[in-house]
Amino acid sequence: MSISVTPQKQISQLERVGAHSHIKGIGLDENLEAKQSNEGMVGQLKARRAIGVILRMIQAGKIAGRAILMSGPPSTGKTAIAMGLAQSLGNDTPFVSISASEVFSLEVSKTEALLQALRKSIGVRIKEDTEIIEGEVVEIQIDRSITGGNKQGKLTIRTTDMETVYDLGNKMIDSLTKEKVLAGDVISIDKSTGRITKLGRSFTRARDYDAMGADTRFVQCPQGELQKRKEVVHTVSLHDIDVINSRTQGFLALFAGDTGEIKQEVREQINTKVAEWREEGKAEICPGVLFIDEVHMLDIESFSFLNRALEDELAPIVIMASNRGVTRIRGTNYKAPHGIPLDLLDRMLIVSTQPYTNEEVQEILRIRCQEEDIDMEDTALKRLSDIAQETSLRYALLLISTSNEVALKRKSAVVQVQDIERVYNLFLDQKRSVQFLEEFEKDYIDESGWTDKNTDV
Ligand code: ATP
Repeated sequence: MSISVTPQKQISQLERVGAHSHIKGIGLDENLEAKQSNEGMVGQLKARRAIGVILRMIQAGKIAGRAILMSGPPSTGKTAIAMGLAQSLGNDTPFVSISASEVFSLEVSKTEALLQALRKSIGVRIKEDTEIIEGEVVEIQIDRSITGGNKQGKLTIRTTDMETVYDLGNKMIDSLTKEKVLAGDVISIDKSTGRITKLGRSFTRARDYDAMGADTRFVQCPQGELQKRKEVVHTVSLHDIDVINSRTQGFLALFAGDTGEIKQEVREQINTKVAEWREEGKAEICPGVLFIDEVHMLDIESFSFLNRALEDELAPIVIMASNRGVTRIRGTNYKAPHGIPLDLLDRMLIVSTQPYTNEEVQEILRIRCQEEDIDMEDTALKRLSDIAQETSLRYALLLISTSNEVALKRKSAVVQVQDIERVYNLFLDQKRSVQFLEEFEKDYIDESGWTDKNTDV
């Protein structure tokens, strides 16, 4: 029997460009003035200025437990502006983004899912002062006679209030050698990683020590001026602390992602502990942002839960987005603007986004071409923005990469009008798809599982 081996297909690296990867901020200057096109953001000047005010208040720690609604027609940049805010906030302020439908899961109740999202959006800055030790090297002793790749040694450093002797493993010895550390040097040691950094030279240095020298060396030098320890700040979310304290596997549960329901008493204990840390000056609360897209998908119970949760002392800023007009509130027969109960709507700051002009659409498409590394002729870009006005910005954005494929197929590195026309004919937009459906409705299977043709038979 012969066995044929199929050659492995060459797998090319696929680089995914996210829908909002071109957004680098909300594009405001220091006076909160929005430039027409900046940091990937185009137009929507009023909405961006409004979000700029919110950004300032978050940064100044003046706002928490507030709800903001981004309302506007589809594809007018509600999500893009929220992503811009996340970028402008930086890494230290939590920004959590969910779609309202994620709240409906089989594993946890909807209120638990919301509470977890809210607590993920609250940062706790914990100050620690024992992680990095800084001081003058008093002794270095390295035994390099041990063979088999294992070097061992001893390092004594003196700090303000203690003298520490380290047994050096391979990693530390390499770090010492790399930094060319000598007795008399002032260094810092990150205890968690073993990384040694040379900070300077003490004035009381006796003699240089060459760590690369003979097999076993020992150097004693007088005590130098002592250095202070450094303060290290870690930011974790309240939810991370909840998870670590509620599962037997501790912090590993964070990686498993399966957190399940967290008991109320665990959360209460954590809140008390965090309050104590705040009192002692060991921790600071940093309210971040929870972004809930498609908020009309929440139901009346979720809205009422959110309304109450926003009053909590430990509440983040909740930004919601909706493209719906007056619509039914899920779980009721009542209609309300955006499907949001009026009492919640009443406590929200509302920011609206407007439809784009042709020039703005063209600029967004141009930025996306750059982001996707696609060369498009001006005439093609113009045609694409006309298509966006007739159909939607989303549809036009999808035609960028598809038209590039078509251009590459005919060996052109530049997308031209003919490529745009080709993909416009190949892929239907929503309006043409509905027309097609109406035309051929009788050929489709209906709810009863029959087509008109079946019925005729
Ligand atoms: P929906 O109501 O359908 O959820 P939306 O208002 O949230 O729509 P986005 O998803 O933000 O719209 O926008 C659609 C696409 O257009 C995204 O790729 C987004 O990054 C881009 N975009 C929208 N507005 C802008 C803008 N002002 N500047 C740059 N890119 C934008």
